[in-house]
Amino acid sequence: MTAPQKKLYGIIGHPLGHTMSPALHNSGFNMFSLQSVYMAFPTPPEKLADFMKSFRTVPIHGASVTIPHKETVMRYVDKVTPRASAVGAVNTLYWEKDLIVGDNTDVLGFMAPLKDKKNTSKKALVLGAGGAAKAVLAGLQELGTSDITICNRTLQRAEKLAATFKVNTITWDERGSVVADLVINTTPMGMAGEHVNETPYLAEMFTEHGVAYDLVYNPLETTFLRAAKEAGWETIDGLHMFAAQGAEQFRLWTGKKLPHDHIRKLVSNLLRL
Ligand code: NAP
Repeated sequence: MTAPQKKLYGIIGHPLGHTMSPALHNSGFNMFSLQSVYMAFPTPPEKLADFMKSFRTVPIHGASVTIPHKETVMRYVDKVTPRASAVGAVNTLYWEKDLIVGDNTDVLGFMAPLKDKKNTSKKALVLGAGGAAKAVLAGLQELGTSDITICNRTLQRAEKLAATFKVNTITWDERGSVVADLVINTTPMGMAGEHVNETPYLAEMFTEHGVAYDLVYNPLETTFLRAAKEAGWETIDGLHMFAAQGAEQFRLWTGKKLPHDHIRKLVSNLLRL
């Protein structure tokens, strides 16, 4: 008798450190009684080519991709989705027949809570210009936001993204002077640990009315979101994006819909939020 074969999934990155992805996807496999397992595959850059060979031959049914492979993995896939192409980075691998597809579910993850709120921002201000900001810019453009300004502590980095996405740039010190109806924090400011008391946007900068969206999800209510709420703004915490990007990976791999509340509860428990 042979044991039933489990479908294999996982996450590649280096260093992988602590990741919530195995707990998230394995809980989904359990929920739907799927014979599948999701593992952590710590993969240093010099082993990426070997890993991708294994992905084809084992085969591995799907993978999440994190730092430092999000861009380099693109040369090993057969097809890149328009979203991954817009971001210039892949965070998900899945099979379409015998082709490996690279997608970026952070874009859909970012857009999901704005779509839920039927938000139609006209003027968005993006704080930070790292990897997450690229998914945010791609998402805003897909949503049709016409006026987007990006600012970053290091101006050159913002200018580079502004040129790629054809959006406006201002200096970090000028960020309070832009009147925006959607302000998004893509920096780690406010995150538990050394950054917890920081905010990228001072309380007095919340003029007019709008939505404050923080990509940070630990803690759920950052100094940025607290100040926004006190100024009468609507708020969106980073767990919405995290849950939606994870649910989209799960859907691409299994065709099943992981409930948003299930993911929020699971992550909240893991992080003791
Ligand atoms: P990253 O590529 O390292 O970029 C970090 C950005 O934040 C850079 O623009 C950096 O500016 C800026 N920054 C860092 N420390 C700062 C400080 N003290 N003051 C002002 N600016 C500062 O990181 P990332 O991958 O984009 O991730 C950024 C944050 O988003 C993290 O907290 C991450 O956990 C979160 N995130 C959340 C989700 C989600 O699903 N909710 C998804 C992705 C990322 P410089 O260029 O000047 O260094």
